[in-house]
Parts: sequence; C-alpha cells; structure tokens
Amino acid sequence: MKPVIFALALGCATSVSAQQAADAVAPEAATQGTFAAMSPEIAASFAAKADRRPVEASNWMVAAANPWAVQAGADVLARGGTAADALVAVQAMLGLVEPQSSGLGGGAFLVYYDAASGSLTTLDGRETAPLAATPRLFQDEDGEPLGFFDAVVGGLSVGTPGTPALMQEAHERWGSLLWADLLAPAIDLAEQGFPVSPRLAGLVAADQERLARFETTASYFLPGGAPIAVGDTLINPDYADTLREMATGGAAAFYTGSIAADIVQTVQNAPGNPGVLSTLDLSIYAVKERAPVCVEYRAHDVCGMGPPSSGALTVGQILGMLQPYDLSAGPNDATVRRLIGDASRLAFADRGRYMADSDYVPVPVAGLVAPEYLASRAALLDGDMALRDVAPGNPEFDHALNWADDASLELPSTSHFVIVDTQGNVASMTTTIENAFGSRLMVRGFLLNNELTDFSFRSHVDGVPIANRVEPGKRPRSSMAPTIVMQDGAPVLAIGSPGGSRIIGYVAQSIIAHLDWGMDVQQAVSVPHAVNRFGTYDLEEGTAAERLSDPLTALGFEVGTRALTSGLHAISIGPSLLGGADPRREGIALGQ
Ligand code: GLU
Repeated sequence: MKPVIFALALGCATSVSAQQAADAVAPEAATQGTFAAMSPEIAASFAAKADRRPVEASNWMVAAANPWAVQAGADVLARGGTAADALVAVQAMLGLVEPQSSGLGGGAFLVYYDAASGSLTTLDGRETAPLAATPRLFQDEDGEPLGFFDAVVGGLSVGTPGTPALMQEAHERWGSLLWADLLAPAIDLAEQGFPVSPRLAGLVAADQERLARFETTASYFLPGGAPIAVGDTLINPDYADTLREMATGGAAAFYTGSIAADIVQTVQNAPGNPGVLSTLDLSIYAVKERAPVCVEYRAHDVCGMGPPSSGALTVGQILGMLQPYDLSAGPNDATVRRLIGDASRLAFADRGRYMADSDYVPVPVAGLVAPEYLASRAALLDGDMALRDVAPGNPEFDHALNWADDASLELPSTSHFVIVDTQGNVASMTTTIENAFGSRLMVRGFLLNNELTDFSFRSHVDGVPIANRVEPGKRPRSSMAPTIVMQDGAPVLAIGSPGGSRIIGYVAQSIIAHLDWGMDVQQAVSVPHAVNRFGTYDLEEGTAAERLSDPLTALGFEVGTRALTSGLHAISIGPSLLGGADPRREGIALGQ
C-alpha cells in the first residue's frame, strides 16, 4: 500500500471529495485557491514540519487536528456562518475522521467569545457518572484500585456523553445557519468514505488487541481481522444514520429513543466488563454554563474552563506564579525551565488536593488563583535550585477542607480546535473520548468514552475522602484547558491541546512562548516541550529540549526523555489572523 499524502484540494469553497483528499496536492496549490493559505498535512515526521510558518488570513480562520474537519469548518465560515456553526461542522467531522480522539460518545469544554455582546462564556459538556455509580466503581472487593486498562476497556468507564448536547447548546446560543446543514458534510463523507490517515492507522495497529474484544468495534477498525491501513477508504453508514437522526431530531434524538437505548444496551452488556449507565442518565444530561476562570499574566487575562476541569485553574496558577519572574531568556535557559517546572509542580500539588467537580465538593476556585495566594506560592520559587519539597498550599476558602491527594491517571488522546469567524466570534474547544478509542465500545458508528477513569480510583486515603472520587451524577476532573487570552476586553489568542494532564504544561508553555518569548502562534505550538507534572521533568525526545537534561539534573530535578505528543491549535487575533497547527499531529490551519 503506497502511503497517502493527506492534503486538501483548495480550488473551491465546497466540500472536498474523498478522492481529492486522498490525492496528493502540491503545497503551492494552497496559495492559488479560494482560501488564502494553509499548512498541508503530510505523512512526515515532526522534525520535517517543525519549521512550518503560521497561516495568515484577514476574515476567518479555523485550526483543527484533521484537514477534513478543518475543511468542513472553513466551508461554514466561508458562507458566513458563525464560529458556533463551524464548531458543529468540525465536531461532526472529527467524530468520523479522527474517531479515536473525540466524537458523539464523548464530552467537551467550550470557551466562546461572542463579539456582539463582548462576553466570554464557558460551557461544560463533560460526561457524568451514572446515577448507579458509587465511589467504589473502580475498586476490587478489597477496595484496591483496578488496573488502569481493566477499568478502561468495556462498559464500566463509560460516562453519559456530553458532546451532542454541547454542539446543540452552542448552536442554539450563537449559531445562524441551519443545524441540519452543518451535519450534512459529515453525513456525506461517512457514506462516501474517507481515506484512513497515518495517525489513525498507526493507532489502530497499536491497539488491535483491545479493539478486537468487541465485535462492532473490531468489524470497523479490523475488518476481516486486519487493521485498516493508511489510505484505505473507510465508510461509516451507521454514523451517517446517527447524524441524520440528529439532523432532524436534534440532540434529543441522541439522548432519548433508540440511540440512547442502544448505548445503554452496549454498556450494560459489554462482555467481561459491563457498566451501569442507564437511559435515565442519558435523558437527564444537561450542559452547564460555568463562570470562566481568568488569571492576569503580562497584562493579559488568560481565561478558560473552571471545574470540573482543572485546566484553567492549573494553567492560571502556573502563569500567576511566574508573573514576578523574568522569563525572557527563553526556552533553552535552565533557570527559566527551573521556574516553569517548579511552578508546575506547586500547581499540580494543589490540583491533586483541591480540584474536582465543584457541584459535588467545595473547590476554592477564587482562593486558588487569588493574587495574594499566588504571590505567596511564587515566593517559594525564589531560590537557585529545584524545590526539595513540594506540597499543596492553603488557599483561602470559606469552608473547612480536608481532602486527601488523588491518584488518577490520564493517558493522552483528545482533540482541540480553534475558530474565528468574520464577525470576530471566537471558539476554543477541547473535545475527547479520553483514552485513544475510549472504552473501545462502538455503537451506531461512534465510540463510547472512558471518561470515568479520570476520577480517582481510590475514594479515600486513611479515612480522608479524595475530592475527585466517583459519585453518582458527578463529572470527572479534567485537565482540558481550552483557553482564550484577552487584552483590554478583546480576544487576542485562542489555544488548547490534548495530552492528558500534560495539556496543562503544553498550554502554559505555548502562552509563555507567545507572550514572553515573542514567538508567533506557529512557533509557540512547535517549540520543543518540557513539562513537569509533579514528578519527572519530561523533555521531548529528539528535540532541543533534550539538551536541558544535564542542567536540570544539576539543579536537582529528576529528568526523563519521552515523546510528548501534544495537539496544540492556536489562532492569534491582531491586525490579521495567524493560525498555528501542532506539527506533532495531522492538523492544519486554514483561513481567508
Ligand atoms: N480525559 C482527559 C481530560 O479530560 C483528556 C485526555 C487527553 O487529553 O488525552 O483531562
């Protein structure tokens, strides 16, 4: 099978056919079409794409993890749709072409700037624990935590999906085009078929054993027992049918009726690992509007998703602690890395202790990012060496808190996209089914999430409860950090990433790269990663970050080297729009 160069044809503003996308398109075509510019995805390594330039446009822009999804969003924006319209189209398409990362069976967080009202809103479309779940969901008879994949694969880990409700909520609030028209391109492509991308093929090959456990999943990803290969045309008529039902019936068609019944049946009868999700859980699911969490940094307001995500709080804590320090020496400077690394360790210590679904446990949201509190934590960084001891602090709160530190493991998959429309509305959305391929259960053409494993498997330590323990109806703590950076009340940067709890480090570093190191959005998402989550200081394998190993070890950090597969997508908003797509994934930015 010859490798396919996965790029988009840009000759017209209409949908791209499967054949067009499967055919290699010379990058020069990018500047000749209706859309001014793009960075085409090719099946190349990070190194080969590391010197990408940002995409520039003046009217609208979309950046996402897959060119088909970007094209679907671009088509909507080109015909005057809003960022909310485009996000529906992008999400519907991602669920088809990047099914391992997000989709109808998952959850998402959206940060949205509405230009007409000048307001920033965050919507929580996170999955919920079934009402029949208990804090012991992921424990054996002795109360010991299950092995991670023993919990993930099957029905036990499946939370009530939130993404369909979030798509509809965003569209109802800020959309202008017809809902059904926004789903149509994904319906068409699901029926025509799309070429399997290198990333999807690679992930299927690596996960064969788990995917093979369930018949429906196996027959889609491992037809005839062999993994789908790069360039194969994959059709998904079940997904087309599901979207068609949603096109006429809205999200209600998903949360009630036969789709909901099928989801529940699949979860409750998962061989070997049945779950407790019920039709009641689906029928009562609701998107929640939350107050954005904003932290001041370098005369900007960095705003994002509060609990149940730890994203904005932890990114905000890191930046808030770094505020008094000069980071201008750049990414290769060991002192700069010491400061970022230790600020991250301190923030992660608080995250493990205090952050969870604030509808269930009191979370000191304001106290955790209060300037006085951050200044007191920042003062701890004022030495020459890595901190010897790192512990949670004592943020101010009007409620006695006694939580034990959590133990939850988050492995990376997920997707992030950003959109700016012609009216200046901005969407920054991180969307997930948690692990790659989620629970591995597939129904009606989409995969079901394993989001519940974002809860702490342990419920208590020495009799002290853990804030992020499982509880009925609760939303598992997330690290997703969809972000909009504001200056003088106007958005200047939209950014986010997948990457499990490393999302926090990826997003914080990119914001620092943009604001402190003077990098454009493409450079900011491409800069080699160094992330610390309160353990080893992880340096990105095969990049300049590896050279930090000796100096950081000398400063007292425990250092490791590994692949750090972020999927950052960013748009900066100034006199023109600049888009950046992470060279580590298959995404592009596209604008006009
Ligand atoms: N489930 C994770 C979270 O919500 C995201 C997983 C990922 O990014 O890979 O934080």
